[in-house]
Amino acid sequence: MPLRIGIGYDIHRLVTGRPLVIGGVVVPCEKGLLGHSDGDVVVHAVCDAILGALAQGDIGALYPDTSPETEGMHSLGMLEEIMATVARGYEIVNMDINCICEKPRLSAHRPGMVAAIARACGVDPGAVSMKFRTHEGLGEIGRGDAVAAQAVVLLKRR
Ligand code: MG
Repeated sequence: MPLRIGIGYDIHRLVTGRPLVIGGVVVPCEKGLLGHSDGDVVVHAVCDAILGALAQGDIGALYPDTSPETEGMHSLGMLEEIMATVARGYEIVNMDINCICEKPRLSAHRPGMVAAIARACGVDPGAVSMKFRTHEGLGEIGRGDAVAAQAVVLLKRR
């Protein structure tokens, strides 16, 4: 099968006392995403979309949150490893990402996030679409207690 498509979703709590890492970029903010790794919700969704396209399970199976080795791990490193090992033989055609975050506003960081994700995946930045939306003040995300992300990735056999 030359083409494979996958979907990824993730959500993390926003808490005080953590750096905010989203899309591989450190965003100045008084809160950060809670997680065993750096909590990068966008990169986790991208990893799960790639693994989903390959029917290779999910990021939690590859990088268990009970493992001391993955504690504090940079999620971009997970993405690089997945591309180099699990997705060997495939290249990314394109990906489309939604990040749902009430605050802080993130669109100024789009170029940095696109560049970081494209570099980790070994693709041109034009293959990475990054979109931001709020949650209209509704629910946990709307209150600023959490950030969610969705990603769709299309892979092509080399
Ligand atoms: Mg996660």
